[in-house]
Amino acid sequence: MSLLTKSKYMNGLQCLRLLWFANKKLLPEIDLATEHKFSQGHDFEEYVKKLFPEGVDLKDQEFKENIDNTKEQIENKKTIFEAGIIVENYFIRADILKPNDDGWDLYEIKSTTQVKPQHFPDLAFQKFVCEKAGLKINRCYLIHLDNEYVKNGEIDPEKLTKQEDVTNDVNQVTDVEKNAIKFLEIMDQEHPPDHCISKQCNKPYDCPLKNECYMDLPKYNVLQLTNWRVYWKLLDEGIEDIKDIPKGTKLTDKDQIIIESIEKNKPIISKEHIKHFLKSLHYPLYHFDFETFDTAVPIFDKSRPYQKIPFQYSLHIEQEDGTVEHKEFLSEGGDPRPKLLEQMKTDLEGTGDIIVFNKSFEISVMKKLAEDFPEHSDWLLKAIDRIVDLADPFRAFYYYNKSQKGSYSIKKVLPAITGKSYSELEIDNGAEASMLYFYSHIVPKLENKEEIRRNLLKYCNLDTEGMVWIVDGLKKLV
Ligand code: SF4
Repeated sequence: MSLLTKSKYMNGLQCLRLLWFANKKLLPEIDLATEHKFSQGHDFEEYVKKLFPEGVDLKDQEFKENIDNTKEQIENKKTIFEAGIIVENYFIRADILKPNDDGWDLYEIKSTTQVKPQHFPDLAFQKFVCEKAGLKINRCYLIHLDNEYVKNGEIDPEKLTKQEDVTNDVNQVTDVEKNAIKFLEIMDQEHPPDHCISKQCNKPYDCPLKNECYMDLPKYNVLQLTNWRVYWKLLDEGIEDIKDIPKGTKLTDKDQIIIESIEKNKPIISKEHIKHFLKSLHYPLYHFDFETFDTAVPIFDKSRPYQKIPFQYSLHIEQEDGTVEHKEFLSEGGDPRPKLLEQMKTDLEGTGDIIVFNKSFEISVMKKLAEDFPEHSDWLLKAIDRIVDLADPFRAFYYYNKSQKGSYSIKKVLPAITGKSYSELEIDNGAEASMLYFYSHIVPKLENKEEIRRNLLKYCNLDTEGMVWIVDGLKKLV
């Protein structure tokens, strides 16, 4: 019979099919971004352990050795890191088990910046296994990152962390045993449960089986609508194809446009709105885009947990007569911000609009730069005032092509409006760019640094050149 671990218990709560695949070790191989997430969690754990100097760390021990040593340390009433407990078909490795009066306190370390609802059943399963093994659990705690912590010299574990007593929330989870019995049955089934696409595919985590389960959905399906309340309801009713949406279903204006574009088999264009948008632009246009990375535990002074650190930008300066000049920055390593700021200040000098795609990201990065490097705040704040969001006309559906499949991201808009795409690039998305930079320039894990640099430059260049083409494409429409 299979062994139900904490992570499989959490898989089971999300979806029985996911649990079955996880148990049979049939999940897709994890990508660099997921690996990064795990490694960030491990880095954080090492700082949390410093808060318990008396702790005995069993992290590196093999399965049996870890379980045997945990028993021994429990008898010695020691604080234990990675306490391995097995009972019946249940197994956990508790992050921290600490003796307390007549029993034990259970600590879970999460590299999140707050307590989340999924943390309660996670701890409840661990408590259930501990209690089955005869341990009395008094209190349950969650230790997470404090996102207001600003690194200044050595990391201060006390200030980096926040500890919250979640005992009452954990005690309110009463269905652990019932779930655990059901999950063990599913794990030993010969065939996986059928997929049942629903909100659970994204909650609490993005399911790694989405590609496989979503493969059979119709090309234009209800998940492409903008109103998630409507699309989950339709899906629950067994309606997958947009063409099968019953007449009279209450839909937003944007969803009506999505349907109209499919029915008429052509883009839906609101020329007046696009003309108005184009008329509002002030030349020269500074088409601008950052690439960033982040880490759970800050690695540079003047930065916080998960702060986006810009390491690259591309800038296409477009004059009203159509001439275009390209400028770019790509850090060589270390804290990229001081050099990036110096060059960016010169490159953005002028009065024209700074065109970005999805301005909230660029604005938040620039505001943090202004806060952390006050000597640059004047020009940065003025630059923020010049920002215009090129995603706005697409977010408002002034242009919609059914090939966008409900999305207004630049990756969908660019091919829809210009016929050009990212598909021929070695790097075709920001998450990949971020990981490749991080593991070649910050943590030297990847060897092909020069090749990565060339591909990063090509990728970021396309983001801003693409914006020039999109503006041009909009002009041609009106
Ligand atoms: S994609 Fe959805 S249906 Fe498929 S396994 Fe994941 S959660 Fe279950």
